[in-house]
Amino acid sequence: MSENTIQCPCGKSINGYSDYSLLYLKKDSDEGGEIDIICKNDYCYLRELGYLKFRIDTNRKIILEKGKFYAPYVTWNATRMNEEKTVEILRKHLIDITEKLVQWEKVMKGIEMDEERSSSEEVIA
Ligand SMILES: [Zn+2]
Repeated sequence: MSENTIQCPCGKSINGYSDYSLLYLKKDSDEGGEIDIICKNDYCYLRELGYLKFRIDTNRKIILEKGKFYAPYVTWNATRMNEEKTVEILRKHLIDITEKLVQWEKVMKGIEMDEERSSSEEVIA
């Protein structure tokens, strides 16, 4: 395996944004929400690799507030490669996730339909 490949601690190679799953978490308030970034390996013991936090502005537009990968995932890769390279690649993954993977229209629709739904989470990618 190449030293430039990001890997989940469970062993799954993560070559880009399409190797992540997303899970939208409904919040009690309608002011925003959270999207969990999930490993695609069904048997992953870590599962959650990071998250995106967003809020809804007064024009009903989604504003991304924060995006982050969790320390165990980052540290795992930083010790395999080096920290600088890991941070650089993961930053690119995070940007790609927000720009290419998250279906913001679907998230917005989910927020608007929240009252009719009983389930509190939904797989969106
Ligand atoms: Zn995993």
